[in-house]
Amino acid sequence: MIVVLRPGATDEQIEQVKQRLEQRGYGVHVSRGVARTILGAIGALDQEKELVAESLEALPFVERVVPILKPYKLVSSEAQPERSRISVGGVMVGGEQVVVMAGPCSVENREQIIACARAVKDAGARVLRGGAFKPRTSPYDFQGLGEEGLQILAAARQETGLPIVTEVRDVRQVALVGQYADLLQTGARNMHNFDLLKELGQSHKPVLLKRGFAATVEEWLKAAEYVAASGNLQIILCERGIRTFETATRFTLDLSAVAVAQAETHLPVMVDPSHASGDARLVPSLALGAVATGADGLLVEVHPAPEQALSDGPQSLRPEAFAELMAQVRAVAQAIGRCL
Ligand code: PEP
Ligand code: MN
Repeated sequence: MIVVLRPGATDEQIEQVKQRLEQRGYGVHVSRGVARTILGAIGALDQEKELVAESLEALPFVERVVPILKPYKLVSSEAQPERSRISVGGVMVGGEQVVVMAGPCSVENREQIIACARAVKDAGARVLRGGAFKPRTSPYDFQGLGEEGLQILAAARQETGLPIVTEVRDVRQVALVGQYADLLQTGARNMHNFDLLKELGQSHKPVLLKRGFAATVEEWLKAAEYVAASGNLQIILCERGIRTFETATRFTLDLSAVAVAQAETHLPVMVDPSHASGDARLVPSLALGAVATGADGLLVEVHPAPEQALSDGPQSLRPEAFAELMAQVRAVAQAIGRCL
């Protein structure tokens, strides 16, 4: 059962509802979104539900009480029919604007990031991406600059005003990365790391939750529910390709998942065409398809000199190619009544 409070409900009012539910023996999860607070009550007895719902709905600061049958509750569109908008350092994701987040796979050095940040900003990107803690498949590959990388990202934000998104790979890094990042990315390889998801649920920063490449949409949405049930409703989903029998692309971009996730949840859904394709030549087609499908944003790898990149060079766009793509993204966005 979900209890949706009216916008502006006070801490005392939230506590009052929580206590009423706990007194009846329910487990209660409080999740704060930007506009609203939602309480999830677990363990409701069927015969009691209606009575409890009626008594809570009588409170002036309770908007509605919804019984939820889906395994994901707080993030479901049943709990909140209107779409969530998530602020990433002041940039709103989930509204009319298609938000493009772009930058290199890894933070390599200050010059690379500043050059990249300026170029993607000039082309219309709203958020800068860059990995400081890299989840590499081989332990011998470049693992990222760690905290120095975060400091470089912060310098680029200072220089350009672009908010930053960067990956947090481990429970022990959440506080550190949270000091620098505007949006905490959790990678495909970590979608099932439930301790990390719970820790991110306790952060006050928004979370970009990538779909695991072997995860069903339902598993992905349950992972989002972990973050929400731990207290954080500021979640943006990101489809980044799944593993199929096809080997022509690095992964297979699942655009159906975008439509399903938008139908099933109130969360914004982004698409990463770079990791899905693994090939810079294919990135524009997938990016445009994603925007036409209705994705709320794109996460695109851009590098000033892809041939020198320490990770994911083959799928990174040069700044000129990115600028060309952005002109096309703008046209597709406008065609479906959105903007860039
Ligand atoms: C990334 O965005 O740099 C990344 C490693 O992505 P994924 O977790 O989707 O592989
Ligand atoms: Mn990458």
